[in-house]
Amino acid sequence: MKKNRGNLFIVSAPSGAGKTTLCQKLSSIFPGLRHSVSYTTRSARPGEINNRDYTFVKEDIFRKMIKKDEFIEWAKVHGNLYGTSGKRLERMLNRGINVILDIDTQGAEQIRKKYIDGVYIFILPPSMRILKERLKRRMCNSRKEIEKRLKRAVDEIRDYKKYNYVIINDNFEDAIEELKSVILSERLHTKNIDPLWVKKNFFRPVGLTKKKK
Ligand code: 5GP
Repeated sequence: MKKNRGNLFIVSAPSGAGKTTLCQKLSSIFPGLRHSVSYTTRSARPGEINNRDYTFVKEDIFRKMIKKDEFIEWAKVHGNLYGTSGKRLERMLNRGINVILDIDTQGAEQIRKKYIDGVYIFILPPSMRILKERLKRRMCNSRKEIEKRLKRAVDEIRDYKKYNYVIINDNFEDAIEELKSVILSERLHTKNIDPLWVKKNFFRPVGLTKKKK
């Protein structure tokens, strides 16, 4: 009954809001929902695997890909370049895979112009104070970096109105439940029902069989 093309979910949040963990949990709950693997020029963190977490490339390769128009969106985030391959994304959507794009607000702005049907979700931390605490815990004593991210968070949060849904990640389990509801409602959206399936199932005469005597 579903249309063949997958749905696109775009998730943005300021650094420290818990977006990556939420997105990973979501794709483990919904097997038909997959992360699009972005290209990045930043180096891999411990535990990250090439082509699973990101495709890690040198800046000159990334720049060549920009020139060749291979990115459907790209942006500089915290000093590194990140981009989504148009080919990779389209291949997944055409195969009927529902895709999560975990990208920043600049990238989402570019995607919004091309995918009006996408579901745009913004994740907020409960407050700036809590965001600061989370960043401190994550980044230990890199004071300058924490300040930079907090400043950027303010700019990103200004964009919340451009998203369809806002999830406040205060309690992880609650935030997951809320994200699940967004994904489930999208599945039931009228635009995702195949009109041919409706026609085949409901608009064909059903012959009445004669009752046996
Ligand atoms: P991290 O390096 O911590 O994994 O990600 C840093 C930021 O880059 C996050 O906000 C993440 O959403 C964003 N990001 C990851 N991949 C992409 C991408 O392909 N495009 C854009 N625009 N942002 C991305």
